[in-house]
Amino acid sequence: MNIFNEMESEVQSYARSFPVVFNKAKDCYLYGEDGKQYIDFLAGAGSLNYGHNNEHLKKALIEYISADGITHGLDMHSAAKAKFLEVFRDNILQPRDMEYVLQFCGPTGTNAVEAALKIARKVTGRTNVISFTNGFHGCSLGAAAVTGNQHHRGGAQVALNDVDRMPFCGYYGHDVDTVKMIDKLLSDPSSGIDKPAAAIVEAVQGEGGLNVASNAWLKALEKVCKKHGILLILDDIQAGCGRTGTFFSFEKADISPDIVTLSKSLSAYGLPFAVVMIKPELDKWLPGEHNGTFRGNNHAFVTATAAIEHYWSDNSLEKAVVEKAAIVTRCFKKVIDTHGAMTLRLKGRGLMQGIDCKTGELASKICQRAFEKGVIIETSGNHSQIVKCFCPLTIEVDALTKGLDLLEQSFAEVFAEEALKKAS
Ligand SMILES: *Cc1c(COP(=O)(O)O)cnc(C)c1O
Repeated sequence: MNIFNEMESEVQSYARSFPVVFNKAKDCYLYGEDGKQYIDFLAGAGSLNYGHNNEHLKKALIEYISADGITHGLDMHSAAKAKFLEVFRDNILQPRDMEYVLQFCGPTGTNAVEAALKIARKVTGRTNVISFTNGFHGCSLGAAAVTGNQHHRGGAQVALNDVDRMPFCGYYGHDVDTVKMIDKLLSDPSSGIDKPAAAIVEAVQGEGGLNVASNAWLKALEKVCKKHGILLILDDIQAGCGRTGTFFSFEKADISPDIVTLSKSLSAYGLPFAVVMIKPELDKWLPGEHNGTFRGNNHAFVTATAAIEHYWSDNSLEKAVVEKAAIVTRCFKKVIDTHGAMTLRLKGRGLMQGIDCKTGELASKICQRAFEKGVIIETSGNHSQIVKCFCPLTIEVDALTKGLDLLEQSFAEVFAEEALKKAS
């Protein structure tokens, strides 16, 4: 029996898909204890957009630590925090003509969601919120309540109330305008839907299956929210920080959410860090009302600052993401044409794309085969039926192509085996 089976709770999840002990990682590569190299197409579920131990960020962090910079300072003012706020304002907010104040909450995505829901309820004085089919927002109680996934909600064993689920873009097929449905439900005092404080939505559903909200749908949702006096919370924890090709996933939709949550790749180095962006007029928090010991991780301030300065002071990363996304699309289209133009489907956008394999069993077999070939890749979706490619944004094209080749081989082998099974 190994130490993990002996000591670690059954709650482990990713570890079950990749039963090796990793002890080194650099850029897009992970290494097992035995020295075996793996191409990382999971990237910390989107927490490692700049790869593992990114040289630019590591240098900044080592210099900071060597100079005895503040590591923990509660939410007190630190030079590292000041620098982060300035750089975020100057390179992220101002060029996009966005005006928000930043709340440093506890360092996880789910805590940012809790804070966002709390402030929305506080400001509006309403308890109900709207969330969407297949949405994922975290596992603490408030965030689990707005999450679609039954498995995650089921873990709570308490009533997860004050949420009305609405159909996401395309949920009933692309002929059905689900925002129109929402508008009707909200306009009807006898629909049974109480006027909500907020609607919380992802522009691309990461865990829910790479479902993409169209720009028109997001724009229409914003309009309906405004019409009914509902706050729009955009959860950009997974799709943000460049994953879709722009810093925020919703930039092309030309919307202005009232509240935005960021976490996963915001620290840029895999350090725990989360932020709630709040429109200044909604910032009705009283001092310490949403408190926490680890609000504002100074090491994360340093690496996030370095990442913004290095990657977001011009548009070269954005351009590179678009180019690499096209490589992924090309490869996946080829796989779909070869193995099942009728059944397989391309999902997602930017560097959050995948292939819908129809069943979780098939998707899992393909990921397992890819793992044997040296690619770390996971599934997502309501039936775990989507093979989800989440490489670091900074991956070299050679490594990306190599990983995609191995993935293509995995599809070919698994489909050949399935065909044999059917024939016999
Ligand atoms: C991962 C994720 C969360 C939760 O973040 P944690 O750090 O795991 O708590 C919330 N929303 C979205 C969209 C996510 O992908």
